Amino acid sequence: MRLLIVEDSVRLAALIADGLAKRGFACDIAENLADADLALSAASYDIIILDLGLPDGDGMVWLCNKRALKQFVPALVLTARGGLEDRVAGLDAGADDYLVKPVDIEELAARVRALLRRPGPRVSTILEAGNLRFDVATREATTAKQRIDLARREADLLELLMRRQGIVVVRATIEDALYGFNEPVTPNAIEAIVSRLRRKLEDAGCSGQLHTVRGVGYLLREGAP
Ligand code: CA
Repeated sequence: MRLLIVEDSVRLAALIADGLAKRGFACDIAENLADADLALSAASYDIIILDLGLPDGDGMVWLCNKRALKQFVPALVLTARGGLEDRVAGLDAGADDYLVKPVDIEELAARVRALLRRPGPRVSTILEAGNLRFDVATREATTAKQRIDLARREADLLELLMRRQGIVVVRATIEDALYGFNEPVTPNAIEAIVSRLRRKLEDAGCSGQLHTVRGVGYLLREGAP
């Protein structure tokens, strides 16, 4: 699960990112709306945490424009504007949730989890590949008989490969999906995650196989290479 935090207070953004990272979310930070647009065009996010008073504009107007363009990444507004009118206007502008600063990180994480459980308007929450099913919201992978226990990044990798099954996913895309912009990716980290995931899929009798395309990336495909 990857979150974009749009917040111009560097200290607050770092606190939120740190708190959410400890609870299993990869977080990127944008300090203004222009950077948020760049981040959204470069990566796909599951939730945006959006401040409203930003140096290059009003987050509410920005969100309203996104919704007008039918862009539906769930947005949780986190702002100092706590009046009833502000809350109503925020929800009317297309915010999926609205929290007033200061916020407790536990509550923020709980609200994020609640949003992730909500089925989105665009995609089914269940991905399928052969006998393998993955629930995007609960992060649960199962074959016909068995639940597969996955660590966070293994689940993120599986989701990515299932969304593009039969297509080679290049290493850089995998690194982007599994790690935030500022998280260091150690050498061999991706290989280690791939080999753990591959073993778990094999052990669970998964009909698809996770293939390595040497020097390029990885793909999930039914049957032999
Ligand atoms: Ca602000």
